[in-house]
Amino acid sequence: MKAQPPTLTDRCNLRCVYCMPAEGLDWLPTRQQLSTSELQRLLRVAVNKLGIEEIRFTGGEPLLRGDLPELLAYASALDPRPRLSITTNGLGLSRKATALARAGLDRINVSLDSVDRATYAAITRRDRLADVLDGLIAARTAGIHPIKINAVLTRGVNDEQAPELLEYCLAEGFELRIIEQMPLDAGHRWDRSAMVTADEVLSRLRQRFQLTADPRPRNNDPAERLLVDGGPGTVGLIASVTRPFCGDCDRVRLTADGMVRNCLFANEETDLRSLLRDSGQDPESLDDAIAARWRESLWQKAAGHGINSPTFLQPTRPMSAIGG
Ligand code: SAM
Ligand code: SF4
Repeated sequence: MKAQPPTLTDRCNLRCVYCMPAEGLDWLPTRQQLSTSELQRLLRVAVNKLGIEEIRFTGGEPLLRGDLPELLAYASALDPRPRLSITTNGLGLSRKATALARAGLDRINVSLDSVDRATYAAITRRDRLADVLDGLIAARTAGIHPIKINAVLTRGVNDEQAPELLEYCLAEGFELRIIEQMPLDAGHRWDRSAMVTADEVLSRLRQRFQLTADPRPRNNDPAERLLVDGGPGTVGLIASVTRPFCGDCDRVRLTADGMVRNCLFANEETDLRSLLRDSGQDPESLDDAIAARWRESLWQKAAGHGINSPTFLQPTRPMSAIGG
């Protein structure tokens, strides 16, 4: 079982058009966010009582949280040690990569939708491409491996740039993963008919590269992996909308304010924060109570996300507060 997030914060220093409005959002008040020690307790419960084997810290932007190295170091000292990863926009990574690697970070996903400066600035509403590219090199130098690049394509903006992005990733030794845009934007502007599908991406990439199925087992990876020109380079397609993989999903998400979400698209959440803060129980019974409530949420996980059903309801929390 993997714990995708904890979402360490809902705040972010970019404003990607498919995620957040230009003016940002009403951020969670600090007192509602889990403290370092509350997060540590939940990490311990997740690993020791729920058998979580991999923890991915995300956000909002996880690098904005100053205690990230401390949380990584804590998680890496747990027994059994979980695999540790982050999903980040890469801003500030050039300064932090070494400390994160030393604290126990194993692998990293960096979001990068274009290697063209103007396109990158148009998507993120910030002219910061150079910072992200520097961060990627720093992560590689720090020995973090693998480095995966998450890219979301927007029609008329960067949908024709997938081949250039793949060329960049192959040259640098990064694994590109292209994610279909999902109805999780804060502005509720997602439009199925405008969405760039995985099939479209494939046919565009095939104009420049030879792509064949990667024979290695997919396990619970959301990405369908393809070998590029016979390998070893690969490209992954995360077709959450057109080819859902809900049956193989082994993730559970925890928000920055301590709510368990058993699906990215869940409309209900399970409150661990009130248990953490209001209980008055002795530490061992509190850990057991948290684990029991967390488990109960997992048993209620729906069979599928329902995006393709006419009764689909977009969750109130946007992607930036859920973590991706
Ligand atoms: N800020 C960090 C980042 O961008 O990597 C972590 C949080 S972000 C919400 C996690 C991932 O979700 C990113 O790779 C981002 O591209 C992706 N994402 C955001 N909004 C999305 C949407 N509407 N559909 C698909 N992916 C989305
Ligand atoms: Fe921020 Fe990540 Fe959302 Fe972009 S995708 S606005 S970097 S949270």
